Amino acid sequence: MNEVIQQAKDIITGYDGPKIRIMEVCGTHTHEIFRLGIRSLLPENIDLISGPGCPVCVTPIGYIDEAVFLALEKNCLITTFGDLIKVPGTEMSLAGARAKGGNIRPVYSPDDAVEIAKENPDTQVVFLAVGFETTTPAACLAVKKAKELNLNNFSILTANKSMPNAYQKLKGSADAFIYPGHVNAITGNKVCKELKDQGVSGVVAGFTATELMTALAVTIEMLKKGEPFFVNCYPRVVRDEGSPVAIKLMDEVMELCDTEWRGLGIIEKSGMELRKEYSDFNARIKYSIPEIKGKPNPACRCGEVLQGHCKPSDCPMFGKACTPTHAVGACMVSDEGACSAYYQYGRSF
Ligand code: SF4
Repeated sequence: MNEVIQQAKDIITGYDGPKIRIMEVCGTHTHEIFRLGIRSLLPENIDLISGPGCPVCVTPIGYIDEAVFLALEKNCLITTFGDLIKVPGTEMSLAGARAKGGNIRPVYSPDDAVEIAKENPDTQVVFLAVGFETTTPAACLAVKKAKELNLNNFSILTANKSMPNAYQKLKGSADAFIYPGHVNAITGNKVCKELKDQGVSGVVAGFTATELMTALAVTIEMLKKGEPFFVNCYPRVVRDEGSPVAIKLMDEVMELCDTEWRGLGIIEKSGMELRKEYSDFNARIKYSIPEIKGKPNPACRCGEVLQGHCKPSDCPMFGKACTPTHAVGACMVSDEGACSAYYQYGRSF
């Protein structure tokens, strides 16, 4: 064990102050903290809760219904990251749509979808663009490329999310946030510093054992001081200014819009939609998708899990009616979902 990890471990295991709640906003952090065994080090007075930083989990049911509509009613080839295929919609998942004859194909990147459209000019290809500032630039690049190639058989269905206003909704959920390192690598730290000025504390963390242990130890030490704080614990990747190139690209192709988050409802200016200059590539406009209100399974507690109001193991269906092979909610489907992490690594936490 290296010296930094040992010091961090001493701080974490030795904490004997009042109960504190720390939210790991990012789904990858949730999984890594479990996988690395860090959660088992926590004393009882440190409550680590999961947040809404899993792109598949926060995508609302109505979005799945829209994709099913495009597959079955408009005969589009739906290209998507694999996780999304299994997420239940109101009537069916995309896997269910495939069983009914829908053409659904997993891809590794939006660029793959553009290539499929290029090679199949008679097929209408739609890419399901979900995710945060980490994946949105790639969707923007794909749209720009399709425009340059004059492809009239490619479009995207957006559910892209932007984190800053979501933090406003999460205020009060925890004593401190562990901010997602890969999002801050794009957006920079301005928002986190503004949150600190509003009394909201947090650290930005990387993904290795050393980085995560350090971030937790710094959070504990700073919370002991009782003042709002922000510390960049991932300086090898995250710069205060973020990635100006990615920010410029997103601003050129997309603009902020109000959008629905599973469990969090509509959050003002927290979504990304194509600008009107790129509306030919907007699947909602191109296919006149009617307004679809998804109906969540009332027994699924994903919404509460995503806000840190309950733990996956508090859901009565966890590990019984709901498992990774028969998921009732998105948080059990996604590799970044909290329910899937709890199921995989530690059902007793
Ligand atoms: S265990 Fe399943 S049903 Fe319960 S909150 Fe998680 S995803 Fe939803």
